[in-house]
This record gives sequence, C-alpha cells and structure tokens, in this order.
Amino acid sequence: MSAQLKIPGFEGRLIEPSDSDYELARLTGNAACDARPALIAKAGNADDVAALVRWALATGAVLAMRSGGHSVAGHSTGDGVVVLDLSPLDSIEFDTRGAMAWVGPGAKAATFTKAAYERGGAVSFGDTGTVGLGGLITGGGIGWLVRKYGLTIDSLLAAEVVTADGELVTASATHNADLFWALRGGGGNFGVVTRYHLALSPIGEVLHGMLLMPATAETVPAVLALGSAAPDDLTLMPFVMAIPPMDEVPATEHGRLGLWVDTLWAGPRAQGNELLARLRALGPILMDTVAAKPYPAVYPEPGDGPRGAWTSSSIFLDDVDGGVFETVRDVLAQAPPGESLAIFRVLGGAAGRVADDATAYGWRDRRYLVWLIADYPPTEPGAAYAAWVADGRAALANRGSGAFVSFQAADDPSAVALAYPAATMARLREVKARWDPDNLFRHNHNVSPADMAHD
Ligand SMILES: Cc1cc2nc3c(=O)[nH]c(=O)nc-3n(C[C@H](O)[C@H](O)[C@H](O)COP(=O)(O)OP(=O)(O)OC[C@H]3O[C@@H](n4cnc5c(N)ncnc54)[C@H](O)[C@@H]3O)c2cc1C
Repeated sequence: MSAQLKIPGFEGRLIEPSDSDYELARLTGNAACDARPALIAKAGNADDVAALVRWALATGAVLAMRSGGHSVAGHSTGDGVVVLDLSPLDSIEFDTRGAMAWVGPGAKAATFTKAAYERGGAVSFGDTGTVGLGGLITGGGIGWLVRKYGLTIDSLLAAEVVTADGELVTASATHNADLFWALRGGGGNFGVVTRYHLALSPIGEVLHGMLLMPATAETVPAVLALGSAAPDDLTLMPFVMAIPPMDEVPATEHGRLGLWVDTLWAGPRAQGNELLARLRALGPILMDTVAAKPYPAVYPEPGDGPRGAWTSSSIFLDDVDGGVFETVRDVLAQAPPGESLAIFRVLGGAAGRVADDATAYGWRDRRYLVWLIADYPPTEPGAAYAAWVADGRAALANRGSGAFVSFQAADDPSAVALAYPAATMARLREVKARWDPDNLFRHNHNVSPADMAHD
C-alpha cells in the first residue's frame, strides 16, 4: 500500500503507519529508541529535502533527520515526528585524481572507506562501519585515524545544505563560512546536509587488532601515556571491560577486568612493530590479534544478530592515572546486568593541532575521551542504564570536563551544555539565530537561537 498523503514537490516515498513496510522502516540502530513516527519520508534528492523542509515549516511538523540511524540519543526517530530519511542519498563521486569526493549523507563509513581505498585514500571516520556520514560528520567524527588525519570534519571542504527556509546553499571556508563552522560539530541544528565534499588522505596497509591484558592501576595509565606520546600514526582505543568466557583466554582470567587495547598503526612497518613491542611489554598479553591488513578491514562486515539496546555518556580527561582507573573500575562494578564498558580514546596528534575555535568541535586540547556504554537486552527498562552512565560520568567529573556530543545519549539541555565550551555555545547560538531563527531543526541535541530563551 502506498501512502495517500501528498507533499507538494516531494517525489520520494512517504511511509505512513498503515503501510506494510512501516514497522521495518521505523527501526533505527538502537533498540532502546522504540518510537512510532507519524510519517517516514524517504528523500531521493535535494529537491525532495527542500520540499519536505518547506512543508514542515508550513505545517509545524517536527522533523527528525535520519542518515545512518545511529543516533545515540535516538534523534533519528520519535513518537509523532516526521522522519526525513536521507539514507537513499548515498552516492559517492570521486574526482578524477581520487583526491576528493562528493558523498551523500546516507553513505556509510565502511562503504566509503572501501571505495576510497581503491584510489589509495581514506577519510578519518569513526570506529564503526555502519554509521552514516550525515550524523558522523555533523558531530565531528573521532575514529581510527584521529591522530593521523584529525577528526572527520578536518577533511571537510564544503557541504551542500538545505536551510530552514528550504533553500539549497553551499557552506565552505569561502561561502557562508559561519554555517560551515557550525556544521563541523554543531550537529543537525543548522540545516539538512545533502552532500559533503571531502578530501582524501593517503593510506595503505595498516597494523590493526586487539591486545588484551589485565586492566590495572598500572596498565591503564601506561598504555594511554604510550598512545598519547606516540607518533600520529598510532591511534589507540583501549577499553576496560570484564573478560567473558572465551577459548583464547585462560579460564583463570574470565570475569576479571581486561584492558582491550584496540590498536591501529598507519605508518612505516618497522617503526610500528617497534611500538607494538613496547605496548606488549606493558602487560602480560592474554590475547593478540594485531596483524597487517588493508585499511578497510578496520570495518568488519556487520553481524546479523538481533539489535541491542544501549545508552552512553562521555567526558574529556587531560590525565589518566591509577586513580582514574580505580574510579572506572568502581563504576563498572555498579553496572546493572548487561555488557558495560569504558572506552578510552587517545586524542591529540593531528586533531589536537587545529585551533579550538576553528570548528564547532571545541575540545582540541584534550588528551583523552572516556566513553561509558551500557549495552542491554531491549526487554529491560532503560532507566537504570541511563542512570548508570550518568552516575559514571559524574564520578569522573572531578578529573575532567565536557562531553562529546555524538556520545551523549541524554536528551536534555544540560547534556547539550556539557558538549560545548561556553564560547563555542554562544557562537553556535548566534549562527543558529541567523540560519534557523524559529528552531525548525530542534529534534536533536538542540542549540537554541541566540534571541530565544535558553534553558
Ligand atoms: C555503534 C556506534 C559506534 C559509534 N562510534 C563512533 C565513533 O567511533 N566516533 C564518532 O565520532 N561517533 C561514533 N558514533 C556516534 C555517531 O557518530 C553519531 O551517533 C552519529 O550521529 C550517527 O550518524 P548517523 O547518520 O548514523 O545517525 P542518524 O541517527 O541518522 O542521525 C543522527 C543525528 O545526526 C544529525 N544528522 C544526520 N544526518 C544529517 C544530515 N544529513 N544533515 C544534518 N544533520 C544530520 C541529526 O541531528 C540526526 O538526529 C557511534 C555510534 C554508534 C551507534
């Protein structure tokens, strides 16, 4: 059954609750966000996006943008909202030299990475291949190449954007520079991006995999310090999590806290092997999967298991010592049943050499980011898990500050306030007042326009 509703100028597919594909179409990547939108509008091109934005403006409909559907806060769905589904906008067009690409927001990190690798290049995306570029880029983008090539936004040359009045504009360093600044970290507050222009950086084979060692007050600070002082070619994402029963690890270690050192080296092989030897010397190694592989292998094919429910919080730290580890250990010990972990991201490198005020991601000087995650059965009520990630962040608050907007599951003004330094937030509100004065794009980590009351 096709939808009866007509939206002037919109030629994509409209899916209403009575349509047979509605139940599938309403799902997002996180089973914790189990909402029932009023309508799902699959845009086929920028004209569809503009038509839907104009219609939302005229009717007062609440728009939820969806590119890859991986919003941690569930912003790509909602009860009664109109989902603007941009997943069909997934084209990837490289220039003839393979140095740059125009890409749609619906393209996924893994798909783009495979195609770019055939041209010898890459863009620094996140840790997960199924994340959509639409939300990844507007949040900033911190991943495997963050120390070598910076955040994803550091490779962004321009964006085509449908603004709140339904106009298609280009944002770049020379056109609408305020909008370009805000798009790079300010989330979906300023318009709907219909195409990104990205610069590729050279990449070849990498050393990649996991080193598992016991998580202790000695190993955690030592691994992070090594990662922070290493050349930019090394990016570490070590996480602390209980070791489940697994054949590769002696049974005596099962149930103990492990430090799972997710490792990527993207430089000269001999130097990488030397650094890896230093990493391995930091602890008894319980498992070692690090191997040479083509760069796209950092994004394995996704499994087809059932969708899990999860929630998260985060905090930036400048220093990690044994005391931080002990706090993380105690926080993990209080987690409700399910899989809970604390992922440390080692920052700095190329990401840290960009000025704090160059983009709306304003945490360039921070050395580490901690991401607390609770993964739980969708049948469980989420409140206990949301409280746990919030309490966990609070326990670390005397050792750090701020939060990464893309890892904020909480959906309230205080969660948004944490994600931006005060000067960045003030500037974002000014840009919002110019480009979206009526706050049409509000179903997100919302930045209110400067002249609107601020919660
Ligand atoms: C398993 C997992 C792993 C992750 N790992 C990382 C990581 O390593 N590094 C990292 O930086 N982030 C990571 N994230 C966070 C991720 O980057 C954000 O959740 C991001 O918003 C997801 O993008 P999406 O397009 O898939 O999401 P969607 O749910 O489709 O969109 C999320 C929000 O992004 C905005 N948005 C989406 N598309 C557009 C558009 N076209 N124009 C303007 N705004 C838009 C909107 O505000 C929307 O509500 C991870 C998330 C998950 C679920």
